[in-house]
Amino acid sequence: MRLSITKIKQQPSAVQQYQLVDDQLDPTAYGYTDFRLSEPVSFTGRVINNGDGLFEVCGSYQTKLQLICSRCLSPFELPVAGEITALYGSSPHEDADGELAVHSFSGDNIELDELLLSEISFALPMQPLCKEDCRGLCPECGTDLNHDACSCAKEQIDPRWEKLAYFKFNGDE
Ligand SMILES: [Zn+2]
Ligand SMILES: [Zn+2]
Repeated sequence: MRLSITKIKQQPSAVQQYQLVDDQLDPTAYGYTDFRLSEPVSFTGRVINNGDGLFEVCGSYQTKLQLICSRCLSPFELPVAGEITALYGSSPHEDADGELAVHSFSGDNIELDELLLSEISFALPMQPLCKEDCRGLCPECGTDLNHDACSCAKEQIDPRWEKLAYFKFNGDE
């Protein structure tokens, strides 16, 4: 995603608004392999010319990710949204903590791809789940227990299902 700052580049304290949608952003091109975008990234925000060759970007983004459930291995979609604030200048430098305090850009365009993708990757859940109570795959036979039952490992009954099992045994009498 590219923000053109041609109009404000020569005027300190000038502000430009943006409302952009980018369907070309490709996480794999930047080494992110644990998610895909299932919707274009949209960005609403502004760039302020802070003077001294520094430009401040702030705004909000949103998109939808395609992730793989860590329990049942099914793909599912997760909406993500967040705020970004970053300073861009012609020479990048780090602050005392080693964080990038000023991101670099050249010419008349600020390229947001890397910043957006790193923000999105921070928003990823450690253990993505298709739903809170996903039952996952049977460790014995691999059946997706969200959709099917299987006949292995009956000894290990989840306490939540104990009552149900009790019912079943009584029913058989
Ligand atoms: Zn799942
Ligand atoms: Zn099984």
